Amino acid sequence: MSPKKLTGAEIRDTFIDFFVEHKHTAVPSSSLVPGGDATLLFTNSGMVQFKDVFLGQDKRPYKRAVDSQKCMRVAGKHNDLDDVGRDDTHHTFFEMLGNWSFGDYYKKEAIEWAWQLLTDVWGLKKENTWATVFKDDQGDIPSDEEAAEHWRAQPGFQDGHVLYFGRKDNFWEMAETGPCGPCSEIHYDRGIKYCDKQHIEGHVCAVNGDCARFLELWNLVFIQYNRLGPNTLEPLPATHVDTGMGFERIVSVLQDVDSNYKTDLFTKSLDVLRSLTGHSLAAMESDFTPYRVVCDHTRAAAFLIADGVVPGNVGRNYVARMIIRRAARFGTKIGLHEPFLAKVAESVIDTYGDFYPELTKSRAAILDNLTREEIRFARTVETGTAHLENLLNELRAQNKTILDGRKAFELYATYGLPLEISRDIAREQGLDVDEEGFKAAMDEHRIASGGGKAMGKAGGEDAEFFAGILKDLHKNKKLGEHGVEYDPYTSPRAEGEVLALVINGELVDSASFGDQVEVILPKTGFYIESGGQVNDTGYIRSLTLPSPNGRGGLPSPSGGRAGDEGHWEIEITNVRKPSAGVIVHVGEVISGQPKVGDMAIAEVDMTRRHDIMRNHTATHLLHAALHQVLGEHARQAGSLVAPDRLRFDFNHPEAMTPEQVERVERIVNDAVAADMEVIPKLKSREDAIAEGAMALFGEKYGETVRTITIMPSSFDMSVEETNVHPSAVVQHEHKYSYELCGGTHLDRTSDVGAFLIISEGSAAAGVRRIEAVTGRGAYDLIARRFKALKQIAATVKSSVDEVPRKVESLQDEIAELKKQLTAMRNEMAQSRFSGQAENIQKVGDVNVLAMEVPNANADTLRSLADKFREKYPKNGAAVLVTGSTVIAVLTEDLVKRGLKAGDLIAAIGGRGGGRPNMAQGNLPNGNIGDALEKVAKAVEEKLK
Ligand code: ATP
Ligand code: MG
Repeated sequence: MSPKKLTGAEIRDTFIDFFVEHKHTAVPSSSLVPGGDATLLFTNSGMVQFKDVFLGQDKRPYKRAVDSQKCMRVAGKHNDLDDVGRDDTHHTFFEMLGNWSFGDYYKKEAIEWAWQLLTDVWGLKKENTWATVFKDDQGDIPSDEEAAEHWRAQPGFQDGHVLYFGRKDNFWEMAETGPCGPCSEIHYDRGIKYCDKQHIEGHVCAVNGDCARFLELWNLVFIQYNRLGPNTLEPLPATHVDTGMGFERIVSVLQDVDSNYKTDLFTKSLDVLRSLTGHSLAAMESDFTPYRVVCDHTRAAAFLIADGVVPGNVGRNYVARMIIRRAARFGTKIGLHEPFLAKVAESVIDTYGDFYPELTKSRAAILDNLTREEIRFARTVETGTAHLENLLNELRAQNKTILDGRKAFELYATYGLPLEISRDIAREQGLDVDEEGFKAAMDEHRIASGGGKAMGKAGGEDAEFFAGILKDLHKNKKLGEHGVEYDPYTSPRAEGEVLALVINGELVDSASFGDQVEVILPKTGFYIESGGQVNDTGYIRSLTLPSPNGRGGLPSPSGGRAGDEGHWEIEITNVRKPSAGVIVHVGEVISGQPKVGDMAIAEVDMTRRHDIMRNHTATHLLHAALHQVLGEHARQAGSLVAPDRLRFDFNHPEAMTPEQVERVERIVNDAVAADMEVIPKLKSREDAIAEGAMALFGEKYGETVRTITIMPSSFDMSVEETNVHPSAVVQHEHKYSYELCGGTHLDRTSDVGAFLIISEGSAAAGVRRIEAVTGRGAYDLIARRFKALKQIAATVKSSVDEVPRKVESLQDEIAELKKQLTAMRNEMAQSRFSGQAENIQKVGDVNVLAMEVPNANADTLRSLADKFREKYPKNGAAVLVTGSTVIAVLTEDLVKRGLKAGDLIAAIGGRGGGRPNMAQGNLPNGNIGDALEKVAKAVEEKLK
């Protein structure tokens, strides 16, 4: 053991420094939200950001890298939630330290360096260090003798410390498909005192055993296959090294503590919690689980929110919600009922803010989201758990143990009780909840409400099929190694041979009129939905034979030449990328019979695309304007760029004021009028970020990124090209907007035309949404509004400019007329009352009046009632009705005789109340005449 204990931050630094000395490039962690990967909810390991590099579809300027990656294991293939809080070594969110070789060094160096770092640099005991290697329990994949030999060759490595394990432990896969390979894990024997199973008879401590003595520290993965499906492994063109060491675990070993939570990574959080509960250290440790869960979940929530994942109802947002609510519930177990998570989160930001500046930047959003979510949860949790308890009681009464998932979903939909919490409560009582049923109900609910699948596997179903097609096309030299060429930027037209036609998931040689087809061409200019920008639509047509000058002629778009020999046309409504390198156009044959091998031209609908580009450029201007008006925190949280409108979600805790909305709109329109240049550029991601380009969460950024700069055209960009640092920082000031973006844009801002905000509202907790229109959409809106305005002007007989004043004076006039009308109605009602008030019924000595007073209101009824009592100061009972309003009055002597005004209302089927001598209420729609006939009878009965 090294003499001086290193802090967590120092341990992270030593790891990175060690590999930098061995010629690795230090790269930052990618977001917890995997960029452009629909198959994965969260980044669950270091390799996620390098997946495409392993597949040979992306390149980096380095062949060796080192990093500390933010990971989250609460969903999908890697879900550790059940262990979190119960053990000391699994978290939902954790950091994974990794060194990487992209087709460079392999097993020998990876093992040698791991051994050196652990035992020489950090001083772990060699005799306590163990290694596992892969031996296929299914006998298909070769054993990893190579790794075993390298281990045995390390200086001081103990005989017999290499152990063999099968697929579950020693074959690493990120997800159902993708790069994978055999791995070699390093386990550390912490000594018998760490065994927590000593009291169990027959227990033997072992590597991959079930006690805490042997700790898995580090996994060295040797990537050499690409998994295409459950039974298909394809060797990769090059072999790679991908390692992952649990950061919290190595810190616990080096700081010599028996729990990840006792490292300095959690000290501040635990201190905050103890200051809130007042527990001593010993009291805390005797009931450690709630402390562990709260610390773990709050840390995870803080990192999620910093990466733009706020609490919500589906997908990632559901996880954020679940984890915050679960933390709050575990807080109640240690007596914390007021919102307290923000206080714990402060300590997380303190501990991690230096290495992960996004936490510090998002401080306000983190604290705010946590507290709001706690308050929301507090409102429903009691009713929700009470209902759950009832369901669990019913379950026991029926001698069952598993709660129907559908019922658990109802608890979520109605009371916001996440599955995971219902399950916690059920398990605390020896029962459980059917998870599949919950998810199915959730998906159904989503689909019924127009959304996609909520938690299930996303897409990817036909990936294998299309990957197979790509392989064949590559073999036949029809496609290059990168597959279909994708260029939506330079030309809306692309010519080429029809390489494949797919109908209903099957390859066909030709298609006919009316068929729904998928078409693969060697290249395309169609934009594939990403970064919020929707797909392009357009046409693919057969290319007629070359004309004498050698250029292909373009058939007319009308499809009117369907009769021509061989001519055909497909209307394209969608474009997608089912698998790496494969782009398919989806559409319907609207004329002729397309065949594989035909020459064709694919043409994007440019009118629509132009509308889209206006909205995309305007989105960047809007983003910049929001920063100006609201501040830097107003970062993009979601975006839709469609032809008819744009929708932009951003972080902001409260509704914008009308003045702020107006200012934003004006700033954008000024930027449009300034006719600035929109300049796309390719550059390295590091440079772009160093220059201050705005990177967005959930976007996929390779090593080479595309940036969109919007700046006044007087500024000379060429200066920047030759001279990147440090002047780039200064030049950034000339940039109006600078974002990483793969979308298609205008050349100049003036082409936006006009920008109009149509709404500002809430999208989710702490997230606002603006919808706006530009160009033709703005014109349509203005034209519509103008027309309406002109109609109004004509109707109110004024000029357009005078309309507001005219309408205001009309309103005054109406108010005055209403007042007069009411007065007149009252007068009429009074006089009619005087006329009819003679219709008194005698019930013994009591004068009973029951009458309907048309066109009156409650005030009139009351004044009529007073009149009645003036006329009959004694022995008087009246029930007056107008519309559905009913009033009953009694003279005092009748009250003394036990009559109540409210009883009379009740007697005729009305509802309401008041004082004994006067009550008001409602008469549900019905026959007023019948009701009134009951009055005299009621008086009679009550007085008996
Ligand atoms: P375990 O068997 O302990 O769950 P694993 O086999 O799932 O680990 P890997 O997927 O190989 O782990 O991840 C690499 C390293 O990350 C592990 O060796 C371990 O140190 C660490 N690690 C894995 N899961 C977690 C977790 N939930 N919390 C903290 N560290 C983890
Ligand atoms: Mg695991």
